[in-house]
Amino acid sequence: MIHRVIASQRRVLRAFHSSSLRSSMANKTFVSKYYELDDHRVIDDFLRRKNLVLKETPTHYIVRDCPFCHSTKGRSDNLFKLYVAKTNGVYLCHRCGSSGSWFSFRQKLGASDVVPAAMGNADPSRYQDDEPKLISVLDNAKAIALQRNLHEDEECKHVLEYLSKRGLKPDVLKKYCVGAIQQPFYDGDNQVQKWCVTFPWMARSSDLELMGVECQSNSSTDANLFNVVRLKVRAIDDKSKQRLVPKGGSWGLFGWNTVPTSSTSIVITEGEFDAMAVYQATGLPSISLPNGCRSLPPAVLPLLERFTTIYLWMDNDVHGQDSLDKFVNKLGVKRTYVVRSQAKDANDALLSEMNLKNAIDNAERKPHAQIATFEQLRQDVLEELMNPLRASGVQSRTLPALNTYMKGFRNGEVTVLTGPTGCGKTTLLSQLSIDWCAQGVSTLWGSFEIKNTRLVHKMLTQMAGQSLSCNLDLFEKTADAFEQLPMYFLRFFGSTDVDEVIDAMEYAVYAYDVQHILLDNIQFMMSGQGRGYDKFERQDSALDKFRKFATAKNVHITLVVHPRKEQDDTDLSLSSVFGTAKATQEADNVLILQRVRGEVKLDVRKNRFDGTLGSIPLKFHAPSNCLVERYATPMNDSLSSIDAEVEMRQMQHSYPIEAPRPDYSTEIISEPSIPLNGSVNGSLNGTTGVNGSLNGIEHDGLNGYHQKVHKVNGHHSDDEEPFSVFTPIITK
Ligand SMILES: [Zn+2]
Repeated sequence: MIHRVIASQRRVLRAFHSSSLRSSMANKTFVSKYYELDDHRVIDDFLRRKNLVLKETPTHYIVRDCPFCHSTKGRSDNLFKLYVAKTNGVYLCHRCGSSGSWFSFRQKLGASDVVPAAMGNADPSRYQDDEPKLISVLDNAKAIALQRNLHEDEECKHVLEYLSKRGLKPDVLKKYCVGAIQQPFYDGDNQVQKWCVTFPWMARSSDLELMGVECQSNSSTDANLFNVVRLKVRAIDDKSKQRLVPKGGSWGLFGWNTVPTSSTSIVITEGEFDAMAVYQATGLPSISLPNGCRSLPPAVLPLLERFTTIYLWMDNDVHGQDSLDKFVNKLGVKRTYVVRSQAKDANDALLSEMNLKNAIDNAERKPHAQIATFEQLRQDVLEELMNPLRASGVQSRTLPALNTYMKGFRNGEVTVLTGPTGCGKTTLLSQLSIDWCAQGVSTLWGSFEIKNTRLVHKMLTQMAGQSLSCNLDLFEKTADAFEQLPMYFLRFFGSTDVDEVIDAMEYAVYAYDVQHILLDNIQFMMSGQGRGYDKFERQDSALDKFRKFATAKNVHITLVVHPRKEQDDTDLSLSSVFGTAKATQEADNVLILQRVRGEVKLDVRKNRFDGTLGSIPLKFHAPSNCLVERYATPMNDSLSSIDAEVEMRQMQHSYPIEAPRPDYSTEIISEPSIPLNGSVNGSLNGTTGVNGSLNGIEHDGLNGYHQKVHKVNGHHSDDEEPFSVFTPIITK
């Protein structure tokens, strides 16, 4: 049976690879001509590391031997032909004609060893494909029917009312082609029908070409006409109930059809309502990000190349502001102006009758990353006060007690995990990483000790909540869900140069907006590099680099470090972490997985965020391959939804955030800090619960477009959408 599973796993890996992955390669590393490097010395460093001899001018590095040329035969007129621009790393060889972005340069020299979910051990040569992605567009009649529903159907009246309450006028909704439909969603195990708003992503065939996408025959043949390439469908009473239709479609921009071809400036907002609010209030061309604050896919960047001014209006909260720097860099620092407002977002600004035009006129270029004005800090503090849970970070569903101490997963931090061999460090991290990833935290794994296949097998088991060995159906279902997670793997294994690892990390942050990077473990990564004291020095310098990376790129890095040899049956302490004190000094969080006399517990021994330390007694649950809390910590599931503001506000009134409990010697026996409302999510299978598609839209014959739309087939189809398997996509 096992070999069947493995064969099937391979098949799925391959299938996944050949469809969505390869096709999404085309523009996944598109780099804007406005993109600039923070510091040109990274080019210098990289070229020298690749043993390339170079000359330097004020504007360029010039490489003696172009690595892409055929042999120079040492002739001087063949040398120094490869120019790399200092501002952005764009390269051009005047001999062989090779040219491209800084990312493609490094990719060609092997600095992009990152593969998306479930692709751990696939053949690297197959990633180089640049074939366009084939998609089908939504039938025009269906697209129009959705709009008609919203404006003309009695049954949809409350959807229109809901939108009016957001302050949006019918003619604006029409301009943006917003529609209404009823869709089934899973609520726990039950399927419920929800009334939804539909937000179309529209594009001309020339736009699709720019995005590296090709249309199947059903698209309009008129190059100037817009087609609906994809729909975002979201329940009006529950933002977390959301999906993209059709499955595996292209990226796109909501509102793109409203932007005049002559415009040279554009407003980009985090959410759909915001884009419409800005347009309604100012008349400026306004579009929204496809995936809220979570990512800015490079595939849509080519559409934005023609704009000389971009106003970026992210939400005034921790998550929106966290993504700001990454997005500004991708769009280009020089042409991007950041809109700051007292309002929560642009839609809120419209509702509170603020002057949106003013806010946009006062937008400023991103200040230097290292300089913060008091005004920004003031906003940040206010945000923390108003919304302590948001500031805390993404909550763990699988180990709720961890939230009690660490208060959640936050960007920009370094966590060190240590513990004796075989006590389950990888199990724990695998479990936590899926947990956060399923809530939208884009994740990159570097597994240096365990092959990616084995790691992925573990993850799939954890996600399914049971062994997959004799259950092929469950395997297929779980693999399908897993493949939708924003999870990526480094292809490195065993001893690897730290700089190579950092190159790949940098690439993943650019291309996938990765927020969490796990490196398991430092000793394997650095094995055989240096001896004696030099070994410690190397480890310290690596930690230094990771610390700087976490801060500079605002990502969370989790490092597994083996302990020194310790006596059996005694707890490990901070000083047990291998190497010098550097690891624990540089870390924001230190976690120690202890196993004493067969009892496992997770100690939080350092916590820079608020100092709460403590210990969580755990036990291993063999079927699901997970560590579970020995004493269940009840948890309000809605807490883990970052967007669940209403609940948070309510909670702030009844439950102030706990005072720190600095007693880490006592085992906390799960004081419920949060009212029990809904079930405890022991395993990770809370990530399912989506299906259905718009394919169920029935034509009702004669009338070409006035179809009824609410009934959608109830069977659990394979049409699960990227990003819908985890809640929520962060948009409003
Ligand atoms: Zn060349």
